[in-house]
Amino acid sequence: MYEKKIMDQCVNSCLEGMQKGEGGPFGAAVVKDNKIIAVAHNTVVKSNDPTAHGEMNAIREACKVLNTFDLSGCELYTTSEPCPMCMSAIIWANIKKVYFGCTVEDAQDIGFRDEHILKFLRSGCSEKNILDLEAVDKCECEKAFDYWRNDIKKIEY
Ligand SMILES: [Zn+2]
Repeated sequence: MYEKKIMDQCVNSCLEGMQKGEGGPFGAAVVKDNKIIAVAHNTVVKSNDPTAHGEMNAIREACKVLNTFDLSGCELYTTSEPCPMCMSAIIWANIKKVYFGCTVEDAQDIGFRDEHILKFLRSGCSEKNILDLEAVDKCECEKAFDYWRNDIKKIEY
């Protein structure tokens, strides 16, 4: 169930991050049984890492705290609708519920490029001026897939 005080902590986290020049106006929290596991904010600028979005940082921190790559049963709060990268990370983490404040359109209004990525995805990844995605010979790569297929010690995820 949504709790405003948790979203308030996400907002406070990213306000603090912006005051320190660490990144954009995006804060996020991973929550389990309405208890905060991790709160984080965007640190793209501070860490020179284009993947250091609030949601990614919160997921990474929560996985460290819980010592797992599987956040099943957790919920995510974020000050802004997740971008496609974070959306994917949230799904990879097995989180099934997200509460978000501002929308993709709001983020676009202040200069963020989510819409650009969504346009590429909606085009069926065919907009080569955004990203040229080319399939090449997979012969060598299949060696790794064969190894995984036959590995009896693997930890599936
Ligand atoms: Zn993101």
